[in-house]
Amino acid sequence: MKQRINKKIAKDLQINKKEGKKMLKEFKKFALKGNMIDLAVGIIIGGAFNSIVNSLVNDMLMPFLGVFTKNINFSNWFISLDGNKYDTLAAAEEAEAAVLKYGLFISNIINFIIMAFVVFLLVRWINKLRKPDTPATPTTKKCPYCYSDIHLDATRCSHCTADVAAKNK
Ligand SMILES: [Zn+2]
Repeated sequence: MKQRINKKIAKDLQINKKEGKKMLKEFKKFALKGNMIDLAVGIIIGGAFNSIVNSLVNDMLMPFLGVFTKNINFSNWFISLDGNKYDTLAAAEEAEAAVLKYGLFISNIINFIIMAFVVFLLVRWINKLRKPDTPATPTTKKCPYCYSDIHLDATRCSHCTADVAAKNK
């Protein structure tokens, strides 16, 4: 009896092992699918791209904006909801006050608009690169009888000597 149970367990284990192997194979197929890799690359590039855009906004554009707006720091645009006044966002956060950080929201919107514009320019540029040259106007036509290439204006086929003027007009 005991032996039989052991045998059964061994059999179940064998089946589980087989299932596991099958699943592993499926997973491998899934993970190595071409578009999965593309997606992963996209996410990684996207993350790197995001930091570039953030740097563009915070390090390159905001200083100019600051000159015109007399060094307004967006992060200091906030409303404290507890009625007290705080000089900086850090002070408000230290007091654990509920604050409406609309300045940060605005700066995120600006980031998004700039990012969307940069992506738009990038896509436009890539599309321009991708566009194949406009096909040259054809200088030959096919003879309707022997299907050889002959001159567009030919009235007689140079291969089979058939009269092609009437048929190809
Ligand atoms: Zn011909």
